[in-house]
Amino acid sequence: MPITNSIYAFPIDGKFRRIHHGPIYKLWRDRAAANGFTIVGRAVSHEHLVLGCQTCGLPTVARVSHVRDGNPKCSHCIQERRGNVALDYGALHLGPDPEGDRKYRLYKLPCGHTGRRQPGCVKKAAAGHHELRCDICLKARHAAEAEAQGWQLIGKAKRKGASYRRYEHVCGHQQDVTIANMRHGDVDCAGCGESWTSKPSKIYLLRFHLPKGMVIKLGYSNNPEFRMRQVQHDLLVTRGAVIRDIPVATGHQAVRIEKALHSFISASWPDLIVPPENFERCLRTSSEIYDHRAEAFISDLLDAVLAGWDPSSGKPPF
Ligand SMILES: [Zn+2]
Ligand SMILES: [Zn+2]
Ligand SMILES: [Zn+2]
Repeated sequence: MPITNSIYAFPIDGKFRRIHHGPIYKLWRDRAAANGFTIVGRAVSHEHLVLGCQTCGLPTVARVSHVRDGNPKCSHCIQERRGNVALDYGALHLGPDPEGDRKYRLYKLPCGHTGRRQPGCVKKAAAGHHELRCDICLKARHAAEAEAQGWQLIGKAKRKGASYRRYEHVCGHQQDVTIANMRHGDVDCAGCGESWTSKPSKIYLLRFHLPKGMVIKLGYSNNPEFRMRQVQHDLLVTRGAVIRDIPVATGHQAVRIEKALHSFISASWPDLIVPPENFERCLRTSSEIYDHRAEAFISDLLDAVLAGWDPSSGKPPF
C-alpha cells in the first residue's frame, strides 16, 4: 500500500488517487452531509472531492460541482443493492457491461449462464413481474424441440418474423418454420413431402402437481414424454408424469379426436376444467387442463377410443 504525502493510502473506487491540497468549504460539507456523505479530502485535481459514504463507509470520488449543486450517490451502495436484487431472483451481479454500455450490467443467471441485462429489468424480475429469459437456454430448448420432430435448428430464419427459425429436416432440406409449429411437430417438409398430418401420433394424458392440487392435461403429440417435460416451467415443482398414451394412425386423426374429446368432456363435466389463472404460471399451455378427479373418466374415454369409439360421432362412449 503506497504511503506518501501525494497519494491516498487507501484505494478509492478501486484506484489509488492523488491527493489535491486545498481548502474544503463549509458549503461543500453541508451539501455532502445532506446527501449522506462526509468529505474526506480533495483528490485528482481541483475539481474533485473524496466522499466517505455514511451508509457503507466506503470512499468515492465526486466532482466538486456535483457535490455542491447535484445529488451525489454512492456507487458502492448502488452496487450492493444491485447485488441483493439479483440474489432475490437467484442471479449474481457480476459487474459492468463487458460491451461498455452503461445502461447494462453483467449477471450470472439462475441457469448458470451469464448475460447482459438492464438493472431495472432484473429488479422487475426479482419482484415477480417477469422472467429473465436466458438466450442460450432458450436456443437449446428450441434445438431439442426440433430434434424431437426430426429436424435440426440451423439458426435465424431467412424470412422476416421473430417467431421463425431456420431448420433442416432429416432429408437434408432446409426451411423456415415458426418455433411453436416446430414444438408441436406441426410442420410439413417441402423437400421430401413428409407431412406431420400423415405421421403416426398419440393422444396422451399427463399429470402435474400445482400449488392448488394435482391437474391433468389431455392432448396429442408424437412424443408425449417430450411434450410433458417441455410444457413445465420447472420440472422439480410440477413433477410431471405421462399417465398413459394411446396410438393414433395419423397426426390428422389425432387432432380431430383430441378436439372432439375436449368438447365431449366440457359438455359432460364442465366442473373439471381448470381455469387458466390456476396453472398459467406453472405450465406453458393456455387450456386443456382438468382437475385430477377427471383422470379415471378421461382414461375410460381413451379406452373407448381404443375400442373404436369416435368422440365426434355424437354416440355415447360407454
Ligand atoms: Zn455507500
Ligand atoms: Zn441459460
Ligand atoms: Zn424432408
